[in-house]
Amino acid sequence: MKYPVHERFYTWQGEGVHLGRAAYFVRLYGCPQACPWCDSAGTWHTEFRPERVSLMTPREIAAGVERESPSGAVVVVTGGEPILFDLAPLVGELHALGRAVHLETSGIAELRGEIDWVTLSPKPFGTWPLPSVVARTDEVKIIVHDVLDIDAGLRTLSGLRDDAVIWLHPEWSKARDRDRRVLNAITEAVKQNPRLRAGYQMHKLYRADDLDANSVKTLIPLGGNPELGY
Ligand code: SF4
Repeated sequence: MKYPVHERFYTWQGEGVHLGRAAYFVRLYGCPQACPWCDSAGTWHTEFRPERVSLMTPREIAAGVERESPSGAVVVVTGGEPILFDLAPLVGELHALGRAVHLETSGIAELRGEIDWVTLSPKPFGTWPLPSVVARTDEVKIIVHDVLDIDAGLRTLSGLRDDAVIWLHPEWSKARDRDRRVLNAITEAVKQNPRLRAGYQMHKLYRADDLDANSVKTLIPLGGNPELGY
């Protein structure tokens, strides 16, 4: 079993319930959702495709985690779309090291592996998450590029546990540009429905990921580029 690994780096979790925790990120390669504002566009877009993607065994990935981060740091497996792969072997190796394993996914395939924390980021205008993944979700992250994204994202969550947290995150170009329409829509939604929480990608303010020499620094034109067809 080998996984296509786009990048691995040690930093901290910049969003969600585990905000601020030391975290080793394993970003797998490939995603069919093709979100126009994807800030991991290097994992799927031809324009940003890396020259080379490493194929790594679970043991090789775990060895890197052990070498490059201290015990206690969680491991976040993200994408691309990691749920397309059988994650059980990787989770097994990381649990053998005593590491908690978190997953960030859009939920489009059955989840394989005893993941400790599942963050679901549904893509209502792409493929919806499977009910089995929604039921397994610990927190939801709805990316708000347009005000319509809030209700559209919520509609994908049938079967979500009552104790799962639901975040509304301004898509980064909207947050960066202080887009009042998007930010105010999130504020109003939270005020109307206290189940929701207003989120932010704090690591981007710190530029924390950039401090690890292994993180990919390719500049992605956030918000998409219609001239390039995305
Ligand atoms: S699902 Fe995530 S990784 Fe895939 S294109 Fe959308 S934002 Fe990017």
